[in-house]
Amino acid sequence: MPLVNPANKRSIEIVVVGSGLAGASAAATLAEMGYKVKCFCFQDSPRRAHSIAAQGGINAAKNYQNDGDSVYRLFYDTIKGGDYRAREANVHRLAEVSTSIIDQCVAQGVPLAREYGGLLDNRSFGGTQVQRTFYAAGQTGQQLLLGAYSALERQIGMGKVEMFTRHEMLDVVVIEGKARGIIARNLITGELERHFGHAVLLGSGGYGNVFYLSTNAMGSNVTAAWKAHKKGAFFGNPCFTQIHPTCIPVSGDHQSKLTLMSESLRNDGRIWVPKKKDDNRKASEIPEDERDYYLERRYPAFGNLVPRDVASRAAKERCDAGYGVGNSKLAVYLDFAANTERYGRIEATKHNIHNPDKATCVRLGLEVIKEKYGNLFDMYAQITGENPYETPMRIYPAVHYTMGGLWVDYNLMTTIPGLYALGEANFSDHGANRLGASALMQGLADGYFVIPYTIGAYLSKELATKPIPLDHPAFVEAEASVKGILDTFINIKGTKSVDFFHKKLGLIMWEKCGMARNAQGLTEAIAEIQQLRKDFWSDVRVPGVANEFNPELEKAGRVADFIELGELMCIDALNRNESCGGHFREEYQTEEGEALRDDENYAYVAAWEFKEGVKFELHKEELKFENIKIAQRSYK
Ligand SMILES: Cc1cc2nc3c(=O)[nH]c(=O)nc-3n(C[C@H](O)[C@H](O)[C@H](O)COP(=O)(O)OP(=O)(O)OC[C@H]3O[C@@H](n4cnc5c(N)ncnc54)[C@H](O)[C@@H]3O)c2cc1C
Repeated sequence: MPLVNPANKRSIEIVVVGSGLAGASAAATLAEMGYKVKCFCFQDSPRRAHSIAAQGGINAAKNYQNDGDSVYRLFYDTIKGGDYRAREANVHRLAEVSTSIIDQCVAQGVPLAREYGGLLDNRSFGGTQVQRTFYAAGQTGQQLLLGAYSALERQIGMGKVEMFTRHEMLDVVVIEGKARGIIARNLITGELERHFGHAVLLGSGGYGNVFYLSTNAMGSNVTAAWKAHKKGAFFGNPCFTQIHPTCIPVSGDHQSKLTLMSESLRNDGRIWVPKKKDDNRKASEIPEDERDYYLERRYPAFGNLVPRDVASRAAKERCDAGYGVGNSKLAVYLDFAANTERYGRIEATKHNIHNPDKATCVRLGLEVIKEKYGNLFDMYAQITGENPYETPMRIYPAVHYTMGGLWVDYNLMTTIPGLYALGEANFSDHGANRLGASALMQGLADGYFVIPYTIGAYLSKELATKPIPLDHPAFVEAEASVKGILDTFINIKGTKSVDFFHKKLGLIMWEKCGMARNAQGLTEAIAEIQQLRKDFWSDVRVPGVANEFNPELEKAGRVADFIELGELMCIDALNRNESCGGHFREEYQTEEGEALRDDENYAYVAAWEFKEGVKFELHKEELKFENIKIAQRSYK
């Protein structure tokens, strides 16, 4: 990689949109290296980025457990987990730098869980047979973000990063084919601002909220990535969405948010449904031999820790077949009883209690479970009103993460020179299904270790570029176009709220482009979304004015972008005549109901180009597997 010397770095300005794990780690590291950084987020503090919600853990190939892990195995698990739809080179690099991330975070003081002897602890996540997940109780994202945030604050304190909270990027400014800055709206005053950068980095997160109901933070949205897309950045694999198997089931149409129960719970929770259809007995009344531990039955090698796409489909299959539990019958049990007792037995031995009775084991075991998962159990109890220490949790799959995102090359650069995408905002590493605990790894890999090197390849050729004055016609034009859109929203003065349209879109997406998809449903969805777009632009009601604090106006912009993205997701899903990972086309499945890939025709990244009039043109990046033999995924 070409380098930029320290003196030259001081005269180069970089705009970073996002202060989650990807954005904060990138902004802090680039500033530490000497670049002048401007960092933007729409929350009131960088610390409130959605990354803070991450619960379960972060992967790294440290092999501390001496259980056969290695960089190659993490690389292999990730490629296989993604159902052979990720680019080998990027994933291998991710596995390589994973080990440095843990060192970096420990050096920052991130309180990762430790064993009694002081060594870092690990647990298992889906799609692997080793224990490589580092964690901080059920709050790993929070602790990692506090680490990145501290690094960022240090640079802010030294004046090397200028932080713009409560600012929303609403366009990329492209001059002579290169990204040269952004237009941002001050969300408090409503004022539009122009910001120059020699390069622009988007760490703006994922777009799961296109489904309206998801486990994402309410504010997560696609606008930054979508504006870049409309300016020429290709969008990679938009239809690859992750549906997480262990979420609190939907309880009614009053909800605006769903809650994740971390995958870490599958270390000790066993998933089951009654063997009898429409069994209305309480879980505790169903004897052991009348329970179907269907993941352990179908996938003995990985059991409850099969990857998310596999576990989600299996839950749906059981519920669709009439074995679901709870009032809605759209739920399965996640049961800790067996492992509570097992832990209790170990504790009893430690306490010199020989031949302990069941009650003693349960009492002692509950302490262990509480220590490991206490905050998650509390969350479950508060939301459902049930005590998960006494009765199994009820769970069902929900939208959680988006593998698709802005297409990037090996250097994380989009198809617009000088515009980069990091973290969940890019499509790069997870193929058609992300393995648990790999998003935090990727976000921090991108920010701490990848972009600081790869950006040199571009910036080393930009040394002669002087800061471009903000009255350059491209800035003026971009700002005018943003203003035009905001004024249009206000002036429609229709009859329906923004949420009305968002909910409608979400329902179409969930029913026709969700856990299972087929050609007929997708064709219908495209027509329905096109109609919804027309209705939105003629009948949405946005109260207030543009040049003031106006959250409804913010939402309108985001939902307008979600509607266009939703159409592209359906087009992409319709184009991909195969099943892979989270993209399950009902027409393409094995006799056992598993995803059936078509490697001959679809071993490519679908990179979509935006065309005038909300049209999209497909470009294909062929995927070559030189280090891993491509095969039918098996977790049996
Ligand atoms: C409930 C939950 C639990 C999870 N648990 C785990 C886990 O245990 N392990 C794991 O590996 N992954 C987990 N994930 C996934 C992981 O948390 C995310 O993929 C990851 O945190 C995304 O980080 P990011 O930095 O890319 O984006 P985010 O954290 O979403 O940050 C986006 C940033 O961009 C800013 N932004 C966005 N748009 C704009 C704009 N237009 N203008 C200005 N700023 C903008 C936001 O303000 C924010 O600062 C979980 C996800 C959820 C929903």
